[in-house]
Amino acid sequence: MKRGLLFAAALLTAGAAFAQPKIIAHRGYWTAPESAQNSLASFSKADAIGAYGSEFDVWMTADDKLVVNHDKVYKGTDIDMEKATAKEITNIVLPNGENIPTLDAYLKLALEKPATRLILEMKSLSDFNREDLAAQKIVKALKKYDLVDRTDIICFSLNACLAFKKLLPDTKIYYLNGDLSPHSIKRLGLAGIDYSENVLHKHPEWVKQAHDLGLEVNVWTVDKEEEMKYFIDLGVDYITTNYPEQLQALLK
Ligand code: MG
Repeated sequence: MKRGLLFAAALLTAGAAFAQPKIIAHRGYWTAPESAQNSLASFSKADAIGAYGSEFDVWMTADDKLVVNHDKVYKGTDIDMEKATAKEITNIVLPNGENIPTLDAYLKLALEKPATRLILEMKSLSDFNREDLAAQKIVKALKKYDLVDRTDIICFSLNACLAFKKLLPDTKIYYLNGDLSPHSIKRLGLAGIDYSENVLHKHPEWVKQAHDLGLEVNVWTVDKEEEMKYFIDLGVDYITTNYPEQLQALLK
């Protein structure tokens, strides 16, 4: 019996060692032709290549609407995601000819492409009350489209992580900011760490610590082949990359 258990444990360990990380397209698959960061096309293209997930960034505008974009101030303009209205922001045309999408439009598209997981980053806002409100509105939108079960949440703001945790206790929420150990993340009830390459280079031991605590590890933004190999060997659960097809080829 004991030997059987030991054998099973050895098999599990071996299995874990060979488990491949899942691929997340960072800001969607925007490096593909005719795509753009956080565009609807970037989600479709991540879906088309069979990425596990597609990451995107959500802001709450001055008029309390939700839009999908990365930078606080859109490059080449003075349009600030928190200070402008949704109308002003969605008038911005992305490099692929699309307008900046509302979260609503993004989720509607995701409904048509059920294979790809949504990795939703809520951007840190200027105060905690606005973050709490944004979290409520995001959850309401996810529920409206019945997408809660297909969505993981990621935030730099610990306040935002905890606001989501209250609203969606069963959803996986990952912390991005890199300054908390797996033990702290476990105590906070979050699903894991989603840290930069630099942080995990400084703390490679956090991967095993996280796994021993039942947490998961995602790393961003891994674009170089040698870095992809390093994090595959380190045994992370997810790799977030701007080049998902390159990572797919490496994992084959
Ligand atoms: Mg992001």
